[in-house]
Amino acid sequence: MLIKSAEFTISSARVEQCPAGNLPEFAFIGRSNVGKSSLINMLTGRAGLAKTSSTPGKTVLINHFLVKTSPLPRPLPREGGENAAARKPPSSGGSLEGNWYLVDLPGYGYARRGMKQRDELQRMITNYIMRREQMMNLFLLIDSRHEPQRIDMEFIEWLGENGIPFSIVFTKADKLSKSKLAANVRHYLNELSEQWEELPPHFITSSETRQGKEELLDYIDSIMQE
Ligand code: GDP
Repeated sequence: MLIKSAEFTISSARVEQCPAGNLPEFAFIGRSNVGKSSLINMLTGRAGLAKTSSTPGKTVLINHFLVKTSPLPRPLPREGGENAAARKPPSSGGSLEGNWYLVDLPGYGYARRGMKQRDELQRMITNYIMRREQMMNLFLLIDSRHEPQRIDMEFIEWLGENGIPFSIVFTKADKLSKSKLAANVRHYLNELSEQWEELPPHFITSSETRQGKEELLDYIDSIMQE
Protein backbone atom coordinates (compact mmCIF):
# COMPACT_ATOMS: atom_id res chain seq x y z
CA MET A 1 0.00 0.00 0.00
CA LEU A 2 1.25 3.43 -0.88
CA ILE A 3 -0.09 6.37 1.02
CA LYS A 4 -0.97 9.20 -1.34
CA SER A 5 -2.01 11.64 1.35
CA ALA A 6 -2.92 11.86 5.01
CA GLU A 7 -4.82 14.77 6.50
CA PHE A 8 -6.15 15.66 9.87
CA THR A 9 -9.96 15.42 9.84
CA ILE A 10 -11.38 15.99 13.32
CA SER A 11 -10.74 15.74 17.04
CA SER A 12 -13.60 14.25 19.05
CA ALA A 13 -14.22 14.21 22.76
CA ARG A 14 -16.89 11.53 22.37
CA VAL A 15 -17.45 8.64 20.03
CA GLU A 16 -20.70 10.24 18.82
CA GLN A 17 -18.66 13.11 17.36
CA CYS A 18 -16.43 10.84 15.27
CA PRO A 19 -16.87 11.12 11.48
CA ALA A 20 -20.10 9.81 9.99
CA GLY A 21 -20.02 7.18 7.26
CA ASN A 22 -18.38 3.82 7.41
CA LEU A 23 -14.84 4.14 6.14
CA PRO A 24 -12.67 1.49 7.76
CA GLU A 25 -10.64 2.70 10.72
CA PHE A 26 -7.34 1.57 12.19
CA ALA A 27 -6.68 2.87 15.67
CA PHE A 28 -3.43 3.35 17.58
CA ILE A 29 -3.13 3.38 21.33
CA GLY A 30 -0.49 3.06 24.02
CA ARG A 31 0.95 4.59 27.14
CA SER A 32 2.04 8.20 26.96
CA ASN A 33 5.49 8.57 25.43
CA VAL A 34 5.44 5.12 23.83
CA GLY A 35 6.19 6.71 20.45
CA LYS A 36 2.66 6.81 19.03
CA SER A 37 2.85 10.22 17.35
CA SER A 38 6.25 9.41 15.87
CA LEU A 39 4.91 6.10 14.52
CA ILE A 40 1.87 7.77 12.95
CA ASN A 41 4.09 10.37 11.30
CA MET A 42 6.46 7.66 10.09
CA LEU A 43 3.66 5.46 8.67
CA THR A 44 1.99 8.32 6.82
CA GLY A 45 5.25 9.98 5.76
CA ARG A 46 4.00 13.27 7.19
CA ALA A 47 6.46 14.63 9.73
CA GLY A 48 4.08 16.91 11.59
CA LEU A 49 0.80 15.02 11.26
CA ALA A 50 0.46 13.79 14.83
CA LYS A 51 2.10 16.09 17.32
CA THR A 52 5.00 14.49 19.10
CA SER A 53 4.30 15.27 22.67
CA SER A 54 6.31 17.88 24.46
CA THR A 55 3.79 17.51 27.29
CA PRO A 56 3.21 13.78 27.63
CA GLY A 57 -0.42 12.76 27.92
CA LYS A 58 -1.75 16.12 26.85
CA THR A 59 -3.99 14.85 24.05
CA VAL A 60 -7.26 13.66 25.49
CA LEU A 61 -9.18 13.63 22.24
CA ILE A 62 -9.79 11.02 19.57
CA ASN A 63 -8.03 12.26 16.44
CA HIS A 64 -9.09 11.10 12.99
CA PHE A 65 -6.75 11.37 9.99
CA LEU A 66 -8.03 10.58 6.52
CA VAL A 67 -5.57 8.41 4.62
CA LYS A 68 -5.76 8.06 0.85
CA THR A 69 -3.89 5.16 -0.67
CA SER A 70 -2.99 3.64 -3.98
CA PRO A 71 -2.02 0.03 -4.63
CA LEU A 72 1.66 -0.85 -4.98
CA PRO A 73 2.58 -1.45 -8.58
CA ARG A 74 2.88 -5.19 -9.08
CA PRO A 75 4.74 -6.88 -11.93
CA LEU A 76 2.33 -7.99 -14.64
CA PRO A 77 2.17 -11.74 -15.27
CA ARG A 78 3.59 -12.90 -18.59
CA GLU A 79 1.22 -13.12 -21.52
CA GLY A 80 -0.39 -16.57 -21.50
CA GLY A 81 1.39 -17.48 -18.30
CA GLU A 82 -0.23 -19.27 -15.38
CA ASN A 83 -1.52 -16.09 -13.85
CA ALA A 84 -2.85 -14.52 -17.01
CA ALA A 85 -6.46 -15.23 -16.08
CA ALA A 86 -6.01 -13.55 -12.72
CA ARG A 87 -4.71 -10.33 -14.19
CA LYS A 88 -6.79 -7.31 -13.43
CA PRO A 89 -6.41 -3.68 -14.26
CA PRO A 90 -4.70 -1.89 -11.39
CA SER A 91 -7.81 0.07 -10.55
CA SER A 92 -9.96 -2.97 -9.87
CA GLY A 93 -8.52 -3.60 -6.41
CA GLY A 94 -11.69 -2.47 -4.65
CA SER A 95 -10.70 -1.28 -1.20
CA LEU A 96 -7.07 -1.11 -2.32
CA GLU A 97 -7.98 2.17 -3.90
CA GLY A 98 -10.08 3.15 -0.93
CA ASN A 99 -9.56 5.59 1.84
CA TRP A 100 -9.37 4.80 5.53
CA TYR A 101 -9.10 6.62 8.79
CA LEU A 102 -6.07 6.43 10.97
CA VAL A 103 -7.29 7.05 14.52
CA ASP A 104 -4.98 8.40 17.17
CA LEU A 105 -6.43 7.46 20.56
CA PRO A 106 -5.29 9.29 23.70
CA GLY A 107 -2.27 7.89 25.53
CA TYR A 108 -3.11 6.18 28.79
CA GLY A 109 -1.31 5.63 32.05
CA TYR A 110 -0.01 9.13 32.53
CA ALA A 111 0.62 9.35 36.26
CA ARG A 112 0.10 13.08 36.62
CA ARG A 113 -3.54 12.98 35.55
CA GLY A 114 -6.16 13.36 38.25
CA MET A 115 -8.51 10.53 39.06
CA LYS A 116 -11.49 12.21 37.39
CA GLN A 117 -9.60 12.86 34.18
CA ARG A 118 -8.34 9.28 34.16
CA ASP A 119 -11.89 7.96 34.51
CA GLU A 120 -13.12 10.19 31.69
CA LEU A 121 -10.27 9.10 29.50
CA GLN A 122 -10.96 5.46 30.17
CA ARG A 123 -14.63 5.91 29.35
CA MET A 124 -13.79 7.66 26.10
CA ILE A 125 -11.40 4.93 25.02
CA THR A 126 -13.74 2.12 26.08
CA ASN A 127 -16.68 3.69 24.27
CA TYR A 128 -14.70 4.16 21.09
CA ILE A 129 -13.33 0.61 21.10
CA MET A 130 -16.62 -1.06 21.99
CA ARG A 131 -18.95 1.01 19.84
CA ARG A 132 -17.04 2.03 16.76
CA GLU A 133 -17.97 -0.82 14.49
CA GLN A 134 -15.83 0.34 11.58
CA MET A 135 -12.70 -0.01 13.70
CA MET A 136 -11.05 -2.92 11.91
CA ASN A 137 -8.00 -3.27 14.12
CA LEU A 138 -6.46 -1.69 17.16
CA PHE A 139 -2.67 -1.36 17.22
CA LEU A 140 -1.44 -1.45 20.79
CA LEU A 141 1.98 0.15 21.08
CA ILE A 142 4.54 -1.20 23.52
CA ASP A 143 7.97 0.32 24.13
CA SER A 144 10.34 -2.49 23.21
CA ARG A 145 12.79 -1.41 25.92
CA HIS A 146 10.44 -2.06 28.80
CA GLU A 147 9.43 -5.06 30.84
CA PRO A 148 5.75 -6.00 30.44
CA GLN A 149 3.75 -3.42 32.40
CA ARG A 150 0.65 -4.30 34.35
CA ILE A 151 -1.48 -1.54 32.80
CA ASP A 152 -0.78 -2.91 29.29
CA MET A 153 -1.30 -6.52 30.33
CA GLU A 154 -4.66 -5.68 31.87
CA PHE A 155 -5.65 -3.76 28.79
CA ILE A 156 -4.71 -6.71 26.58
CA GLU A 157 -6.75 -9.01 28.78
CA TRP A 158 -9.74 -6.69 28.47
CA LEU A 159 -9.36 -6.60 24.66
CA GLY A 160 -9.35 -10.38 24.61
CA GLU A 161 -12.39 -10.70 26.85
CA ASN A 162 -14.30 -8.35 24.58
CA GLY A 163 -13.18 -9.95 21.33
CA ILE A 164 -11.55 -6.76 20.01
CA PRO A 165 -9.28 -7.36 17.00
CA PHE A 166 -5.84 -6.05 17.90
CA SER A 167 -2.14 -6.43 17.30
CA ILE A 168 0.95 -5.43 19.20
CA VAL A 169 3.46 -2.92 17.87
CA PHE A 170 6.83 -2.86 19.58
CA THR A 171 8.26 0.66 19.22
CA LYS A 172 11.72 2.29 19.34
CA ALA A 173 13.48 -0.84 18.07
CA ASP A 174 16.53 1.27 17.11
CA LYS A 175 17.22 2.00 20.77
CA LEU A 176 18.25 -1.60 21.46
CA SER A 177 20.85 -3.96 20.10
CA LYS A 178 19.46 -6.68 17.85
CA SER A 179 19.94 -9.37 20.45
CA LYS A 180 18.45 -7.35 23.31
CA LEU A 181 15.47 -6.45 21.11
CA ALA A 182 14.87 -10.07 20.18
CA ALA A 183 15.16 -11.12 23.84
CA ASN A 184 12.69 -8.43 24.99
CA VAL A 185 10.14 -9.31 22.32
CA ARG A 186 10.45 -13.00 23.13
CA HIS A 187 10.05 -12.28 26.83
CA TYR A 188 6.96 -10.17 26.16
CA LEU A 189 5.34 -12.78 23.95
CA ASN A 190 6.14 -15.48 26.51
CA GLU A 191 4.34 -13.51 29.19
CA LEU A 192 1.38 -13.11 26.87
CA SER A 193 1.24 -16.78 26.01
CA GLU A 194 0.45 -17.45 29.66
CA GLN A 195 -2.92 -15.79 29.05
CA TRP A 196 -3.35 -16.55 25.38
CA GLU A 197 -3.54 -19.77 23.46
CA GLU A 198 -2.95 -17.96 20.21
CA LEU A 199 -0.85 -14.82 20.24
CA PRO A 200 -2.04 -11.67 18.47
CA PRO A 201 0.00 -10.54 15.45
CA HIS A 202 2.99 -8.37 16.37
CA PHE A 203 5.21 -5.87 14.60
CA ILE A 204 8.62 -4.48 15.45
CA THR A 205 9.00 -0.84 14.50
CA SER A 206 11.27 2.17 14.67
CA SER A 207 10.22 5.64 13.68
CA GLU A 208 13.90 6.52 13.30
CA THR A 209 14.83 3.79 10.80
CA ARG A 210 11.28 3.20 9.47
CA GLN A 211 11.58 -0.45 10.42
CA GLY A 212 8.20 -2.19 10.26
CA LYS A 213 6.52 0.40 8.06
CA GLU A 214 5.86 -1.88 5.11
CA GLU A 215 4.76 -4.81 7.26
CA LEU A 216 2.29 -2.70 9.15
CA LEU A 217 0.82 -1.05 6.06
CA ASP A 218 0.64 -4.43 4.30
CA TYR A 219 -1.25 -5.79 7.28
CA ILE A 220 -3.76 -2.94 7.10
CA ASP A 221 -4.06 -3.60 3.38
CA SER A 222 -4.74 -7.29 3.95
CA ILE A 223 -7.50 -6.53 6.47
CA MET A 224 -9.09 -4.02 4.07
CA GLN A 225 -9.26 -6.69 1.41
CA GLU A 226 -10.94 -9.33 3.57
P1 GDP B 1 3.71 9.60 22.20
O1 GDP B 1 3.57 10.35 23.48
O2 GDP B 1 3.36 8.17 22.37
O3 GDP B 1 3.02 10.23 21.02
O4 GDP B 1 5.29 9.56 21.88
P2 GDP B 1 6.15 10.46 20.88
O5 GDP B 1 5.99 10.02 19.47
O6 GDP B 1 5.94 11.89 21.20
O7 GDP B 1 7.62 10.00 21.32
C1 GDP B 1 8.10 10.15 22.64
C2 GDP B 1 9.62 10.32 22.58
O8 GDP B 1 10.22 9.15 22.08
C3 GDP B 1 10.05 11.46 21.66
O9 GDP B 1 11.18 12.08 22.25
C4 GDP B 1 10.43 10.75 20.38
O10 GDP B 1 11.42 11.44 19.64
C5 GDP B 1 10.98 9.43 20.89
N1 GDP B 1 10.75 8.34 19.92
C6 GDP B 1 9.56 7.95 19.45
N2 GDP B 1 9.69 6.91 18.59
C7 GDP B 1 11.02 6.64 18.52
C8 GDP B 1 11.80 5.68 17.79
O11 GDP B 1 11.31 4.82 17.04
N3 GDP B 1 13.15 5.72 17.99
C9 GDP B 1 13.74 6.61 18.83
N4 GDP B 1 15.08 6.55 18.97
N5 GDP B 1 13.04 7.54 19.52
C10 GDP B 1 11.69 7.56 19.37
